[in-house]
Amino acid sequence: MNKDQLTELTFFRGRVALAAILRGLNISKGDEVAIQAFTCVAVPEAVLSVGATPLYIDIEADGFNMDPEDLQKKISRKTKAIVVQHTFGIPADLDRLGKLASLNAVPLIEDCCHSFASAYNGQEVGHFGSAAFYSFEWGKPIVAGIGGSATVNDPELLVRMRQALADYRAPSSSAQVKIELQYIAHSILYRPSLYWPIRYLFRKLGSLGILLGNYKNSSEVESNEVFPQSDEFQMRMASRVQTRARRKLQGLETVRAASERISEFYKESIRNSALQHPKIPAGNRAVFARYPLLAEDKGALVQAACRARIELAEWYSTVVHPLESKSWSSVGYQLYSCPEAERRCGQVVSLPTHSKVSKSYLNRCAKFLNSHVS
Ligand SMILES: *Cc1c(COP(=O)(O)O)cnc(C)c1O
Repeated sequence: MNKDQLTELTFFRGRVALAAILRGLNISKGDEVAIQAFTCVAVPEAVLSVGATPLYIDIEADGFNMDPEDLQKKISRKTKAIVVQHTFGIPADLDRLGKLASLNAVPLIEDCCHSFASAYNGQEVGHFGSAAFYSFEWGKPIVAGIGGSATVNDPELLVRMRQALADYRAPSSSAQVKIELQYIAHSILYRPSLYWPIRYLFRKLGSLGILLGNYKNSSEVESNEVFPQSDEFQMRMASRVQTRARRKLQGLETVRAASERISEFYKESIRNSALQHPKIPAGNRAVFARYPLLAEDKGALVQAACRARIELAEWYSTVVHPLESKSWSSVGYQLYSCPEAERRCGQVVSLPTHSKVSKSYLNRCAKFLNSHVS
């Protein structure tokens, strides 16, 4: 990853960085941007913010990333960019997706929000397309508060993005204060065994407007006529978040080592025929943002985990997380258009891989998962 750019091309959120990339590529009304289903609403939101339309591509069978075959089927002359997401930190099939991008002469953008250190065929992700974007929000490999960054491999695009960024505004002082308080609360409170109560609190405070949430809630999405028209898309990263991101990036090796050690533990210790481990194609290095498992009975497993105070994230629980199906039309997703993605939402759970996960917690987690019967 290009650390200099990562701490220079900084935006209010990851989605704002993606919107800036799209704008820099002159993508606008009438254009389509290919994105995968099984993503969060931040991605189509960025596409819609420049006036373009998301083109949803299904994910691979048994996988979490864009399926090159479905891309080939759906891509057309209207498609002006391809966003490739390395879900959970697992590198996407960059060979085949990259070939389709060059065959159709459209830029490829990597969504590296989960993948600060993963590698594809020996090369770190983030270097395979015209640009890549990152997020420093809660739950990402490097948490610095609310913020996002871009790295750009195309020199002309880089010039245009630098120029545009000069006109972005700083977040309001009240937003900055909220981010700081949230960051402090997160660093003090959060640990895997408190995942469920903290999540509950976070949602409650978010819906009351006390916290800066990550997503608008469904009713807000419904009531928005033009979705989305948020001034956040002209905002840069708060300066304190930027300072923290720069400092935390120095510790990337530690983050990577923790992820590798903990994922290895999950891989070796979780043995339950009702739970399926992720498959990583040979030659690739997945530095997991979270460790995903496919469960036969996700609903029951999640409920049991909540009772046992085991951190088990449910995302993505809808193809455009966290939007429920009634809101999918607002982001241009059609029911059944990506059946694998829809199926995966009903199966996936994920486990934490960061350094706050202790050895005793890991043992408790493995014991819980191994004794769970579906
Ligand atoms: C978190 C995330 C984003 C967007 O990040 P924000 O900073 O919330 O805008 C985009 N894509 C993926 C895959 C993410 O996980």
